[in-house]
Amino acid sequence: MLDYHGIAVSSGVAIATAYCLIEPDLSFEQSTISDVNAEIKRLQLAVSQTKEELQEIQALAENKFGKDKAAIFAAHILLLEDPEMLAAIEVKIANGVNAESALHEVALMYIQMFEGMDNAYMQERAADIRDVSNRLLAHLLGVEIPDYSRLSSDVIIVAEDLTPSMTAQLDTKYVKGFITDIGGKTSHSSILARTMGIPAVVGTKIATKQIQHGEKVILDGVTGKIIVDPTKEVIEYYNKRRNSYEQLEQELVQYRSLKSISADGFAIEIAGNIGKPEDVERIITSGGDGVGLFRTEFLYMDRQDLPNEEEQFNIYRQVLEKMQGKPVVVRTLDIGGDKNLPYLKLPSETNPFLGYRAIRLCLNEQEIFRVQIRALLRASVYGNLKIMFPMIATLDEFRAAKEIILEEKGLLSSAGIAVSDSIEIGLMIEIPSAAIIADLFAQEADFLSIGTNDLIQYTLAADRMNENVAYLYQPYHPAILRLIKMIIDAGHKHGKWVGMCGEMAGDEIAIPILLALGLDEFSMNASSILKTRAQISKLSKEQLESHIEHLLMLSTASDVEQYVCTHLIV
Ligand code: PEP
Ligand code: MG
Repeated sequence: MLDYHGIAVSSGVAIATAYCLIEPDLSFEQSTISDVNAEIKRLQLAVSQTKEELQEIQALAENKFGKDKAAIFAAHILLLEDPEMLAAIEVKIANGVNAESALHEVALMYIQMFEGMDNAYMQERAADIRDVSNRLLAHLLGVEIPDYSRLSSDVIIVAEDLTPSMTAQLDTKYVKGFITDIGGKTSHSSILARTMGIPAVVGTKIATKQIQHGEKVILDGVTGKIIVDPTKEVIEYYNKRRNSYEQLEQELVQYRSLKSISADGFAIEIAGNIGKPEDVERIITSGGDGVGLFRTEFLYMDRQDLPNEEEQFNIYRQVLEKMQGKPVVVRTLDIGGDKNLPYLKLPSETNPFLGYRAIRLCLNEQEIFRVQIRALLRASVYGNLKIMFPMIATLDEFRAAKEIILEEKGLLSSAGIAVSDSIEIGLMIEIPSAAIIADLFAQEADFLSIGTNDLIQYTLAADRMNENVAYLYQPYHPAILRLIKMIIDAGHKHGKWVGMCGEMAGDEIAIPILLALGLDEFSMNASSILKTRAQISKLSKEQLESHIEHLLMLSTASDVEQYVCTHLIV
């Protein structure tokens, strides 16, 4: 039995078999063969095994994600059976080359040919050939390619990293948790784990080296502890721990239909963050007061092209209708940073978190932005829509983005298409420049929503993804608390409501401070909503206010944490 530690990013306890998502070793030796027929038969067998595998994946993908998304696998089967390519491999085998080398040489020739073409669509086919030939090579070598879309029993995924799009595809029926080598508390895969309600530990640095595929693993998403090959006694202990965690969750259910109100009667809103329309269900079952952040970029991921206006309209309408008049704050496309859209073919950047992303891209590639805005405006009549822009650094950006909404609204209205006239337009305050001039934004926006995930990384210059600087990523740093106070005061001075949709809004230690500072809306992962409502119901805002002056004068994040734990947590 061995144990390790990582950063606990999504609570809960999981006990299951490790499923290691590690790049398979597809290396091989080039050799000459004597029995050509036997080698061709070996190739044919590998082709039929690969075809079966692809058909299975295609059926599964069709079931889960629909025909459109499964079409790529049909294309891969066609490529695999391409008579010209197979004939070329067989010619090389007939010349005495082993099947692996023959495949490699032919595939490489096709890949280089497609990559050299002028047309972007043809260039993309090179990636398909690489994919199919690797799968075929794996069958020739008898190596398994990990594929978490075909799970049939409970597992804990172990990976170096999980991209947000990989995380979104995990099937929680079988995936009971995940462990990664890299990442931090506010990496998007960690945020998604909380949205999906599965425990996760990230930033372990060594998980993929220490945990073998198929080993029994315990993952404690509260403490960050990972135990490999546990004894019977340890399993028993963690089974109990899991049960009591689940019982605690059960006890919170009583808060589902209660109002979000402090012990001294101060009302706030506790809303939920979503990435996909399905996530709304968990916000509703957790009794959320609304959706405080819809990360729409997830609608653009795991596909080959941009979602069109109609597709987006249907999704926004569905979310608004499901929320039955409760507020739904939709954030416009926030691509970039750790969220990539390969089909946009954006230039690679040395510093993507400070690069061409989010509103910067939307204001430059306006047609992408306008499609989303039109879809939102058309959907607005089905509920209580609010729109906000991500990564705003200057007033000019806010004004330009708002102007586009007004222009599109005008065009729709003159075409006789109904648009709600009570849509609030706000922005995320997640860049220090915007925080410092929040008073100027508050004069022109209907609301401000504090994005602490980014605000912290930009204020402390500590990459939110990098476990080596995780110690600097300090939500309770006095600079952050003072910035938050400035933003809330600025909003209130101009009669605007101020929300927070970064992870800090659901943080037990930050909550008393935020309540005392007068935050109006707390938006968080569904799994934190009831816990937060229970905590707030026991806090007196007035009493908390008497601590705030002292708290804001404390010098370090750990002083703040200690002060809150001793004086403000009930
Ligand atoms: C934030 O930065 O706080 C935020 C909510 O946006 P995201 O985590 O998607 O960057
Ligand atoms: Mg952000």
